[in-house]
Amino acid sequence: MCILCYQGKPQDHSRDSQLGRRDFLKTTAAGGAAAGLGLFATRPATANGDDAPEDSGKRGRRYIIRGGAVMTMDPKVGDFPNADVLIEGKKISAVGPNLHAGGAAEIDARGKVVMPGFIDTHHHQAWTPIRSSIPDSILINDFTGTASAEQNYAINVLGFGAAPARPGFAEHYRPDDVHIGELYGGLSQLDAGVTTVHDISQIHHSKEHSLAAIQALRDTGRRAKFGFFESAGGVDGGSWYPSGANFLRNNVLSSDDSLVTMVMGGEVYLGNATTRQSWTIGRNLGLQVAAHILSPFGIRPILDQLTGVSPDVVDGSGADLRGIEIGADNLFVHMTGMSDAAWEKVALTGAKVSIAFPIEMNMRHGMPPILKMQQLKAKFGIDFEPSLSVDVETNMTADFFTQMRSAMTMQRMVVNQKILELGTFSPPFTSQWPLPPYPADIPPLLNARDVLRFATINGAKHLRLDGKTGSLTSGKEADIIILDGNHLNVFPMNNVPGAVVTMMERSNVETVIVAGKVRKWKGKLLDVDLGRMRRELENTRDFLYGEVGRPQNLFP
Ligand SMILES: [Zn+2]
Repeated sequence: MCILCYQGKPQDHSRDSQLGRRDFLKTTAAGGAAAGLGLFATRPATANGDDAPEDSGKRGRRYIIRGGAVMTMDPKVGDFPNADVLIEGKKISAVGPNLHAGGAAEIDARGKVVMPGFIDTHHHQAWTPIRSSIPDSILINDFTGTASAEQNYAINVLGFGAAPARPGFAEHYRPDDVHIGELYGGLSQLDAGVTTVHDISQIHHSKEHSLAAIQALRDTGRRAKFGFFESAGGVDGGSWYPSGANFLRNNVLSSDDSLVTMVMGGEVYLGNATTRQSWTIGRNLGLQVAAHILSPFGIRPILDQLTGVSPDVVDGSGADLRGIEIGADNLFVHMTGMSDAAWEKVALTGAKVSIAFPIEMNMRHGMPPILKMQQLKAKFGIDFEPSLSVDVETNMTADFFTQMRSAMTMQRMVVNQKILELGTFSPPFTSQWPLPPYPADIPPLLNARDVLRFATINGAKHLRLDGKTGSLTSGKEADIIILDGNHLNVFPMNNVPGAVVTMMERSNVETVIVAGKVRKWKGKLLDVDLGRMRRELENTRDFLYGEVGRPQNLFP
C-alpha cells in the first residue's frame, strides 16, 4: 500500500523516484525505498562498484564511455568501430570518436560493445516466483493426458474455468507476492541488459495489488510501462479493473515523463461490455490500449469485428462492439491465427505488434507471424515490424539473446525450407539449390541487424518511448549496455551485430545504465541485497504452491 496516499487524500507522486509501500519500507538517502526492507544494500566503501562513476544519473554529472564498438541503432548516427559516448545527468550528450570530455570520469570500453538496452514489450513479471513451474505446458488442456496437457497454462496459472477448486496460482497472490515477484523479475532482466519492460501482469485483484506492482517497478529502477490488465482468476469480481485505471492515471501515474508510465490493458476476451469499457477508459486517459490477440481464446472473430472486416455480433451479455475501432494507439501481442483481412487493417492503421517467438512456438499459440508482417510491409511499403516479448517465465527465460536467436532461427527455418521446396532436392544444382527470383510471398531472410532492431528501437516505438530510449542518440536518455567481447564465448569479435546476436548471453552483459544511472557494474548489480530477496521470493513460492495444493517436486 502506498504510504503517501495514507497520509491524507491521494496525491500525485508520480515524479517521486521511490515510494514506500509497507510501513517498514521507508525512503532513505542511501538506497531508495527498498533500503528499509533490506532489499537494497547501502554500498560499502570497499564493495564492487566502488570505482563506478559517482552519482551517475544525477543532474550535471558527466562521465564518458571510451573506446567501445558503438552500435547506436540510429541509422542517422550509424556505427563506430571505436568511439565514445558522453553522458550528462540522465542524457546522452554526444556520440562519436575522440570526444573531448574535460575531467569527466571514464569507463573503459575497449574490446566491448556499447549499445542501447533491450526493450521487452510484453512480460508477466508477477510470475517470477513460479518460474519454470510448467516448462512442458501448452496454453489450454487438449486432453491428451501428456505433461504438456496436464501442465496447461490456462488452468494451472490463470485458473480458467476451474472454480471452486482454485488450482490457478494467479488468484492466490497477495500484494506482497506481487511486489517481490515483480521486483526480482525486473532486476533479473536488468542484470541481463533489458532496460525497459512493458509489464502485463494480470494480477490486479485489488487496488493494493496494483499499487504493489507499480511500487516494484519503481523500486527496480528501470524504465517500465505499467500495464493495467485484469485480475486473472477474477478475484475482484470486476470491481477494480478496468475502472481503477482512472484512479491510477490521475493519482499515481499521471506523468508521462517518469521512468514508470502507464498502458491500458484492453483484453477482448473478457466480453464486449468490458472491451468497450476498457478501450474507452484508456483512450479517454490518453493511454495506449494493449491486448493479447491469439486464436485459442476465440479472438479471431472478435478482431474481425474490431477491424470492420465482419459485422458486429452481440455477445452472450447482449453487448456489441459498434464504434470501437482499432487504431495506432493499439499494441497487439502475438497476433497468431488472425484473418488476412484483419491483418491488412492492423497494418494500415499503424497498430503495433509484439511477437513472443519462443512462447508462441512452444505453447501452441500458432506460428509467430513474422512472415505475415514482412509480406504486408512489402505490399504496402510501410514501416511494419515487430517488437519482442518474453511473455511468461513459467515456461521460458526472459533473456533477450534467446529472443533474438529464436526470432532469427524460426524465420530462417521457414524461409529456407520454402526455397528448398522450389526445387526437387536432386541435381542439377539449380534444382537442389533453387536460385532467385523467388516468389514474392517468400520474404528475405532475417539478419542480425533486423532482430537487434526488433529488440531495441522497435520496442521503444511500440511503447511510445522512442523520444527517450531505443537508440544511442544525443538528447535521448542514457539507457545503455556494455557487452564484453573479451570473454571465452565471443573473442575474437569479427562482426559486432553477429557477435551480439549469435554468440552472446547474459554473462557478457558487463555494465547496465538506465537514465544515466549505473545499475550494473563490472558484472554485478549495484546496491541490491539478493540474499534477502531470494528468501522473500521463496516464501512467496512456498505460499503459492501451498495454496494450490501442488507438491514441490524438483523432478516431477
Ligand atoms: Zn502474455
